[in-house]
Amino acid sequence: MKSNLLMHGLKLSALLLLNAKPRHGYELIKNLGVISGRRVSPGQVYPLLKQLQDSGLVQIKSRGERDKKIYSLTKVGRRAVIESVQKIGGLLDFFVRSKLTVCAHCNCEVYSGGYKISLKSKTLHFCCKNCANAYGAAG
Ligand SMILES: [Zn+2]
Repeated sequence: MKSNLLMHGLKLSALLLLNAKPRHGYELIKNLGVISGRRVSPGQVYPLLKQLQDSGLVQIKSRGERDKKIYSLTKVGRRAVIESVQKIGGLLDFFVRSKLTVCAHCNCEVYSGGYKISLKSKTLHFCCKNCANAYGAAG
């Protein structure tokens, strides 16, 4: 499970990097190491690039100096990146929404911090002390 998630992360990271610009394999390995904060080996990246080529997402754009392959996204690959980013955006939006509270006074949404008052058995959430005071003055 963990290695599977890691491979998904590596695959998406590779696609995002290639979406930014075409790269040599060794450049991709170096960039993936920086992004993931761990050592990424050629043994992980080259089979992945082969798999992405077989899926029609990545192509060898040209051969650079000393006959090194330069990988780039295909049109299908670019579309896949956009779709993945939109899906991730939807997941992040869902995650952030699950963390929001609504200010009992002004109804604005609060992600972190805010101001709480415990009244009898329930806790009231406010965006700031001013809203808490205004609520108290009104109620
Ligand atoms: Zn408020």
